[in-house]
Amino acid sequence: MTMDIGGSFRHELTGCFSQGSDSNPTVVMAEAAYQAHGLHFRYINCEVEPEFLEAAVEGARAMNWKGFNCSIPHKTEVIKFLDGLGESATVIGAVNCVVNRGGKLIGENTDGKGFVKAFEEVKSASGQVIVLLGAGGAARAIAVEMALAGAKKIYIVNRSADRGQALTDLINEKTKATAEFVKWDKTFAIPTEATAVINSTSIGMAGVGALQDIDYDSITESMLVADVIINPPSTPFLEEAAKRGTKTFNGHGMVVYQAVVGIKYWTGEDVDPEILRAQLVAVL
Ligand code: NDP
Repeated sequence: MTMDIGGSFRHELTGCFSQGSDSNPTVVMAEAAYQAHGLHFRYINCEVEPEFLEAAVEGARAMNWKGFNCSIPHKTEVIKFLDGLGESATVIGAVNCVVNRGGKLIGENTDGKGFVKAFEEVKSASGQVIVLLGAGGAARAIAVEMALAGAKKIYIVNRSADRGQALTDLINEKTKATAEFVKWDKTFAIPTEATAVINSTSIGMAGVGALQDIDYDSITESMLVADVIINPPSTPFLEEAAKRGTKTFNGHGMVVYQAVVGIKYWTGEDVDPEILRAQLVAVL
């Protein structure tokens, strides 16, 4: 077989710096999208120890990488090695995607953007009243990006008060949306004004707990219900919601669309999300 060199013996380079990179599936989605769209790019998962993060970033800069994702544990540490931040990365305080713009390394956050795109496959984020279960990293990205996309109100429902209140304050101070913190210490009934319910806790993930402590009968048919969990694709939370006749979607859209947004940043190309989705389903 002859290797397709795409008019050059040099590929543009992208990838991910993280620990635990052996289990990061973005590589198969990105490589499939590059091939299908004839993009002369490569994506490489790199295992980067925290003490070598600066060297890794400088290495990417020296080799003129087009950009790279950052995953656990580098999402906040990486900021001090970059030249600037995009709007949502500034508000969220975390970077998961670095983009080489004319030699400057700019930090973006595509986690929440990916979620908003998945949400907007069903309906507009604008004017939504959202119940967000959880206040960790995924919740922070989702809350900020849904607020920037026009959500009206977000109930932040979280077990620990410090994280929940901090995210609530962030939304109230840095976006036009209103946020209200609910301490999750008893069964939570979804307020009737809610139009969407999103699980961003790790409950439901293979091996982590079972079912969120909410009154499932307070979920009504008109609410859109979403889960961030990637594996398993169908969680008990989504199954309970579906029994109430609601439309639901799982965490695959978020992971697919964050890759689509990252690839657009690096290559300028809008790649077909279905190519990425098929790869994700095939490898999980
Ligand atoms: P974090 O550790 O930052 O946050 C975990 C959240 O879950 C916290 O709000 C925590 O509450 C809550 N939580 C955990 N266990 C319980 C429990 N037993 N009862 C109540 N609340 C609980 O994790 P992330 O935000 O990074 O990730 C959360 C999930 O999102 C993971 O499953 C991850 O795989 C998934 N994810 C999916 C993405 C996608 O693209 N689909 C992207 C990123 C993450 P407390 O503050 O009280 O501890």
